[in-house]
Amino acid sequence: MYIFIIILLLLAFLVWSAADISSGIYVKTFCGIKNCDEKVVSLTFDDGPESGTTEKVLEILKRYDAKATFFCIGKKIGPNCEVFKQIITFGHTLGNHSFRHNDNFSLLLPSRMREEIERCQAEIKKYAGYEPRFFRPPLGVTNPMLAIALKSFNFDVIGWNVRPFDTSAKNAEEVSRRVISKIKPGSLVLLHDRMPHTPEALETILDWLYANGYRVVPLEEMMDRLKNKKKGQF
Ligand SMILES: [Zn+2]
Repeated sequence: MYIFIIILLLLAFLVWSAADISSGIYVKTFCGIKNCDEKVVSLTFDDGPESGTTEKVLEILKRYDAKATFFCIGKKIGPNCEVFKQIITFGHTLGNHSFRHNDNFSLLLPSRMREEIERCQAEIKKYAGYEPRFFRPPLGVTNPMLAIALKSFNFDVIGWNVRPFDTSAKNAEEVSRRVISKIKPGSLVLLHDRMPHTPEALETILDWLYANGYRVVPLEEMMDRLKNKKKGQF
């Protein structure tokens, strides 16, 4: 009986540690800043570029003078290369989100994962002229296989600490409400620029952030803050 409970607990731990990107068990990830003493927030957008919605997201970010990070799916870059180039022109940061973003990514062998990541790097380099330093695994799943695959790269692996589950939200109001209820100084927000609700939700979120004294900062600045905090300068 005890053995059964131990096995069950072990399985629960393995599932949690792989599914929760902030666990940091297998792969060290940056998921925002805990106990941050400045009202700063960083925004990230996954699964683009997507002609139609990404342009709207970019237009809103420009209007609010906010810089964000776009974790792109490699195979979508070519067919959406015009909007992909706009992301760069507008001064945002790029991140690797694998080439195909298959649901079974986390079940692949390290060599196949590496191939997915390399193909995405190559596609980004082809259109942007450089390889990004940030990576976010599809669905945020980390496991020992990914840890092995990532040894070939020098990525900063990025998670989040605010996730509104916008891919299943009914409307923009639901997305913005979920984000706003979780925002704290040091928040790292996960959104998807492929979702039709995102532009409207983003506008409400940015209105709220600025009305409440927050600054939206690029991911690089957020990471530097954490480094400085660890050094005791904050
Ligand atoms: Zn994704």
